[in-house]
Amino acid sequence: MEIIHVSAECYPVAKAGGLGDVAGALPKYQAKAGHFAKLVMPMYKTKFLYANEWVVDFKGQTNMGNWFFEYTVIKESTNKLGFDLFLVDIQGLTDREKIYGYDDDVERFTAFQIAVVHWLSNWEHKPDVVHCHDHHTALIPFMLQHCYQYRAMSDIPTVLTIHNAQYQGWMGWDKNYYMKVTTVSSSYLAELRTSANGLEALFEYEQGKCVGIINGIDNEVWDPKTDEFLYAKYTSRNVTAGKLKNKNAVCKQFGINPDKPLAVFIGRLVGEKAADILPDAIAASIYATDGSICFVVLGSGDPTVEDRLNELKSHFPDNYNCYIGYDEGLSHKLYAAADFLLMPSRVEPCGLNQLYALRYGTVPIVRSTGGLIDTVVDMGEEQGFGIRFNHASVADIIYSVQRAVSVHHDKKHLLGMRQHMMKIDHSWEGVVEQYIGLYEGLR
Ligand code: ADP
Repeated sequence: MEIIHVSAECYPVAKAGGLGDVAGALPKYQAKAGHFAKLVMPMYKTKFLYANEWVVDFKGQTNMGNWFFEYTVIKESTNKLGFDLFLVDIQGLTDREKIYGYDDDVERFTAFQIAVVHWLSNWEHKPDVVHCHDHHTALIPFMLQHCYQYRAMSDIPTVLTIHNAQYQGWMGWDKNYYMKVTTVSSSYLAELRTSANGLEALFEYEQGKCVGIINGIDNEVWDPKTDEFLYAKYTSRNVTAGKLKNKNAVCKQFGINPDKPLAVFIGRLVGEKAADILPDAIAASIYATDGSICFVVLGSGDPTVEDRLNELKSHFPDNYNCYIGYDEGLSHKLYAAADFLLMPSRVEPCGLNQLYALRYGTVPIVRSTGGLIDTVVDMGEEQGFGIRFNHASVADIIYSVQRAVSVHHDKKHLLGMRQHMMKIDHSWEGVVEQYIGLYEGLR
């Protein structure tokens, strides 16, 4: 099957969050499963662009309203990512250092989508499916189906995956027979019917066209056995010693006490992740446990939260530190070093952090929402391996941290959970099968 993915992000080319991880891994594993997977994204000015070899695939000219523009599609020439990677260069629009955050993002991503459809219309054959990711590409199914100019492509099935419905851009989409909507977990799909930032009625009405498929993780990138970012590599067989080496090194780096359980938060410092309650929750949890827990935070986002997190350092020098910024390598080190990963998210369509934590033997402490419900079983249940709570509140976090501290004393229980969670299979191979089954059903 020939699948063309369209996305604003793709790791390692350009990543802002989970979308980048998924868009980098799904085509890779589809290609491994014997399909022709391709991905097209905007050409940003990234390190990856300058560090790799490119050939010009196509040059075209089209228009957005009455603005005519030229675009160039370049292709990475060595199949470095395991699938065909195409970048669309629209001078003055896509060629920026950041992915998002510009005043003209609407124009940037609209022109990108128009260029992609124009480019597709110049292919000598049609792909079997066009798989779009999030709102930056969500107009494409509509354009393929309804633009007179592109009517020859109106029979190409399309899939739109909603990685996060809070960010909607301006979604011009239509409901048509071929268009199938997926989300990245079944619980998130169910939640969208009651909480979708204004689109609730649509999700309720269109239930029959929607399906939730949990993301996979790239086991080649996220593997404590081979991860070059780690201070010490390990497997489930030597998880206790391996994690301890990483923890000692990380605690030294951050100047905190390595003898206490370590909980980390990694993510965007935004309301969706409940980052606003993080400073209070950390302070209150340290007090409530008489200083028996340490925290490290890695993230960036809301400047007020960033300031408060920085300010907290002087209050708890032995128990707390943070790095405000984005650091891929440090995130790997923290997943490996931590005993616990805290995710109090208000909204979590799928969540990748908890899946990485499981792979690294780190007990997830998560709020029961979206994909966190589908992937974390509370340790109070049979075969449980995580800690779940209901409210994004300081009180619920304190209670959960207390549970974490007490299970940390029970070394046998902790080891059992670690070994169990490290064996859970969240690889892309199974997810790829689910997507291919879905595409087949559209043909
Ligand atoms: P979202 O897409 O909503 O940001 P996900 O859990 O799906 O959340 O994915 C987040 C991804 O971004 C993970 O790979 C996580 O490790 C990474 N990440 C988030 N913030 C940072 C940061 N400050 N430094 C390094 N990696 C980060």
